[in-house]
Amino acid sequence: MVTKVLSGEKAIEEGARLIQSGEVVAFPTETVYGLGGNALDPNSIAKIYKAKGRPSDNPLIVHVSRVEDIDPLVKEFSEINRRLVQEFMPGAITLLFPRSELVPIEVTAGLGTVGIRIPSCEVARQFISACGVPIAAPSANASTRVSPTTAGHVLEDMDGRIPLIIDGGECQVGIESTVLDLTSDIPTILRPGAVTAEMLLSVLGTVKTHEGEVLSSAPAPGMKYKHYATSVPMVLAESVNSLIAEYDEMSGRGLKVVALVRSESVGSMQGRNYIDIGATDEEVCRNIYKIMRDAEKEYGYIVCIHLGFEGVCASVMNRLTKSAGGKVV
Ligand code: AMP
Ligand code: MG
Repeated sequence: MVTKVLSGEKAIEEGARLIQSGEVVAFPTETVYGLGGNALDPNSIAKIYKAKGRPSDNPLIVHVSRVEDIDPLVKEFSEINRRLVQEFMPGAITLLFPRSELVPIEVTAGLGTVGIRIPSCEVARQFISACGVPIAAPSANASTRVSPTTAGHVLEDMDGRIPLIIDGGECQVGIESTVLDLTSDIPTILRPGAVTAEMLLSVLGTVKTHEGEVLSSAPAPGMKYKHYATSVPMVLAESVNSLIAEYDEMSGRGLKVVALVRSESVGSMQGRNYIDIGATDEEVCRNIYKIMRDAEKEYGYIVCIHLGFEGVCASVMNRLTKSAGGKVV
């Protein structure tokens, strides 16, 4: 299969036509690129799992372009969910609802709940709207690989496996959506993202946070798989000093090492290979997957500075910790 990369109106038209004929299409969102298929068609869903090599017990998020399109997909739309939708959608959050009969069991990996999101990315919403059906979409990477934030990243993983990638440029948020479970007793963040616990507290009285632990007491289904991993070893460094010590030690052993550091620490690198991951937390979040992909191509060992757990950093650290297999120096 030839994989086309198109942008603009033509891409959306072609993408919608493919979706309607049961194909899968990669498309941009503000979080990461998604690999979309008709959420109401089990055959399309099977193609998504196949293209990604994704285990079938890892559920997909259903994307819609308008709030009113949520209703047919859910059995119950509680008052609290309505308020969350009003406050945070469109945006980088996925809410879990009791699943209606309309949603095939393949989408939710057999669960009674369905995760629903309305992307804020214009291209994403135009595409979904043109399709005329809800779009089930996981991230458009091959299973276990770093999520794609450009069309080029998608092509690296999906070339020859899907007919079309809609190119909408770089993703503006850069990590996957926050997944919030309101079907449990206490609202629980299953996966942290750009919509933080602090932000959710403005609507919810209580929220169980993820706080960057590698495993939470209620991990999201699918979290037991290795996720977000670079193809070369990576470790986190608690300080610039420990980063330099690890760098020098591993270089001494003959590895081609790269340091991922914040802009403020670039001056301390003194002739060592480094990538500037950004000055602000938002910049780091937006760039981190691209940088991980760039780093794994050129280097054999990655040492990344610890970001702390303030705000969106907790969410980025969640991914980095997984990629590093929990290893901190
Ligand atoms: P991805 O689209 O690749 O980021 O993967 C979607 C993730 O959303 C899954 O791995 C789960 O962690 C989460 N998710 C989606 N639907 C549900 C659901 N019904 N219940 C719990 N978690 C879900
Ligand atoms: Mg994913």
